[in-house]
Formats: sequence, C-alpha cells, structure tokens
Amino acid sequence: MVKNIKEKKQESENKMEKITALAKKRGFVFAGSEIYGGMANSWDYGPLGVELKNNIKARWWEKFVKRRADVVGIETALIMNTKVWEASGHLKEFSDPLVDCKDCKERFRADETEGKCPSCGSKNHTEARNFNLMFKTFIGPVDDGSNTAYFRPETAQGMFVNFKNVSEATRKKIPFGIAQIGKAFRNEITPGNFIFRTREFEQMEIEYFIDKPKTKANWEKFFEMWRKEMVDWMGELGINTKEEIVEFEVPKEERAHYSERTIDFMYKFPFGEKELYGLAYRTDFDLKNHSNASGEDLSYRDEKENKIIPHVIEPTFGVERSVLATICSAYTEELAKTADGGVETRVVLKLPKWLAPIKVAVLPLSKKEELAKPAKKAYEEFLKAGIMAEYDETQSIGKRYRRQDEIGTPYCVTFDFESLKDKAVTVRDRDTMKQERIEIKKVIDYLKDKLEER
Ligand code: ATP
Repeated sequence: MVKNIKEKKQESENKMEKITALAKKRGFVFAGSEIYGGMANSWDYGPLGVELKNNIKARWWEKFVKRRADVVGIETALIMNTKVWEASGHLKEFSDPLVDCKDCKERFRADETEGKCPSCGSKNHTEARNFNLMFKTFIGPVDDGSNTAYFRPETAQGMFVNFKNVSEATRKKIPFGIAQIGKAFRNEITPGNFIFRTREFEQMEIEYFIDKPKTKANWEKFFEMWRKEMVDWMGELGINTKEEIVEFEVPKEERAHYSERTIDFMYKFPFGEKELYGLAYRTDFDLKNHSNASGEDLSYRDEKENKIIPHVIEPTFGVERSVLATICSAYTEELAKTADGGVETRVVLKLPKWLAPIKVAVLPLSKKEELAKPAKKAYEEFLKAGIMAEYDETQSIGKRYRRQDEIGTPYCVTFDFESLKDKAVTVRDRDTMKQERIEIKKVIDYLKDKLEER
C-alpha cells in the first residue's frame, strides 16, 4: 500500500515520540531541571546517554586524532578574550533574523519559516532584526559594562588562536590539523526537536591547515579527503549513508561569510532533512584576521623559509546530533514470537556494538541464591575485565531480554539451573536472537572477541 503524505508524517511524529519516551524511560536523556518544572529545551544525559556520548567522543578522538599522524588535539577555554570574537566576525555577524508574530506574539527565525509564524500561521509580523546568538556574561564581581565576555559559540576559534603555539610546540608541518571536543553555547531563537537544537551542545571539530593553494585543485583534494572521512565516520555510527544522508552543496548566498565552499551533511531525521555535520573551506580568513587584529604574526614558514598564511578546511561534528541520528538509525521494530506461541512487537536498538552503552547483561533465570550468586560473580568479573555490564534479576526472562533489546545491549548471558552442572551459560545475540552455550570460564574471552567484530 502506498502511504500518503499525512500517514508518513504521522509515522515520523510517532517515531520521534517513541524515541523520546524510550530515551527518558531507560535513562538516555532526561528533561533538564525537571523537578522544577523543567527548563525549555535543556536536557540532561542519564547513565546510558552519557555512555553513548562518551563512546562517540572516544571513538572520534581515536579515529581523527590518535590514529592520524597529521592531527593533534587541544582543549581551550570556554570563555575567551572578547577580541577573539571581534576578529572572528562573531560579534558582528553571528546572528539570526528574529521576528515577532503580531498576532500570537511567538518569536521565530525569519529564514526558517518562509515568513509564516510556525505557531499560528499568520504573516503579520515585525520586520526581521538581527539577533546575536552569543551568550553574554561578565568577568569579575561587578558588571560595569567594561568587562563583558561571551561563552564560545564554536570551538574553532580556540584552534586558530593557538595555531602558532601548537605548530611551534609540535613542529608539525602543514598539512596538519588541530582537533578539539568541547561545549559551545548559542542563544538559539528556536531550539527544539528534542536534542537536535539546544542552547548548549558539544562539538567535535578539526581545523586542517593547508598550504596557500595555487589552484582550486590544491584545496579541493583536501576537501574531498575530509568529505570521505566524514562519510566513513557516519558509516561507523551505523548510519546508512546512501539512504539517510543527503550532501547539500550550500550556495554562496547561504554560506557563512568566511566560506568558499560548504557541504552540509543532511540526515533524514523523523522531523525532516536537517544538518547533521558540516564541512567548510574557510580560506585564510581566520589566521589572517587574527594576525591583523592581535598583531601576532600567525604565518608559517615553509621548507624554503617562505612565510605563508595557511588556509583551512574544517570538518565539524555535533555530538548531540550524532547521538540523535545514531538512535534514529538504530531504532527498529520487529515482529517476534512470544514464549506462548503468540507474536509481539520487539523494539531493538540495533546500535553498532562499539556504541552500545551496555555490552552484556547478566540474567539469572531465578533470583534464588544458587543462581544469583554465580551470576553476580560473573557480572563483577565482566566489569573488572572492562566490559560494561548490567545485572538484572527482576521479571520474566522474556521481559528482561526485551529491556536489553530496547537499549541496544548486544549480548545477554543467562544462568540457568543447568549452569550449576555443566558450568556453562547461554549467550543470546541481540540481532539474531540465536543462543549459544559457552563455558563460564571462556565467556569473557568469547565476548571480547565478539564485541570486536564489526
Ligand atoms: P544550523 O544551520 O542547524 O543552525 P549551523 O550551520 O549554524 O547549524 P555550525 O555552525 O556549522 O551549525 O555548527 C557545527 C555543528 O554543530 C553542526 O553541524 C551541528 O552538528 C552542531 N550544532 C550547531 N548548532 C547546534 C545546536 N544549537 N544544537 C546542537 N548542535 C548544534
């Protein structure tokens, strides 16, 4: 049956509702400050959410920093000298067009809604005025107007202002990159869509410095290298890049002021095709501006002692958008047989194994001490071996399997009364639901091997 647009929209809304409910119920994401009535569009990450986030950040760092000879890491301050934001253009340019609906008083971004109020549909609104997205604060005990500071709206400037420090300290030769993972703050006009757009979020960014290009092909080859790396990374997250990602070549009039070329990697979220990551060629805009504004010579001397201002290719990745896209791609509903011969819907988070917050669940068939004791011992041994595990002895084994499927746990280890005799356990695979009998003393090695498989 061909689904009409209304049905498809309903399905997508349902999917988002289910994902949001699952995230909350199982401890991935909670509403921020909830006991005080919450705070709009602020989210806290629970025990599973923080594991998922940490897994993403650690893998990204491993792939793009530790395993690459041409990238080094850095961690810079969240609040920087205000002159940084003057030179980067953020004080002047980092704004969105804000309008107020005269009918229902809703505030919204004029560029996102084709001039119609997203709340009441009215076209009766104020002229657009530029609203700077940087969060303001002040340094020191008194706000006397002379000590205004800003929370960084991106991590990138930390890399630019440290370019000289890093290149001198590491003696890296271009092309090389500086990477950073950290928080960024934007006073977004219209946050929303769960964790998609929030006012504080984390970025994983690389500023990749290249020689001043003599021809277009000189920078395009690096741009293409990073485009491929980004696609490869999305594949590692379990995203089907051919079907779920659209590469949007951003036209000149929509590009940031510094960019010569930008690709937005759009992910097909249930609420629409939206930017997941970006890749930009920032030319020599940043280092040139910081050189001029600071008076520090940020040029680089090549082998022939020529002074050049390097150009920059910037791949940028949002952590929370990675979490959301990953969960959306992994969320699956399947029909499965129940123990009594019926059929039920099985919700499975088919996360890549490396991403799953919990790798193994240990489930004794009965709470009785004779089974619970060896099961708890195995659970502790998993933890000691560095395998993230969970112990669960409540409710039927079927329900416990379903709970683990919902959070994406790749393996369940079940202790039954037979285990006391044959010193073996049943290992169940999340995706195939196949079960294997494995000797208890071999189960850690067995699972370590399995968890390494892609
Ligand atoms: P958008 O067009 O969605 O506002 P942007 O083009 O302003 O995004 P960039 O400045 O390129 O975004 O930021 C780099 C990355 O940081 C984005 O690709 C995204 O993954 C993430 N990001 C940006 N803004 C937010 C936000 N408000 N909440 C969560 N993640 C964000």
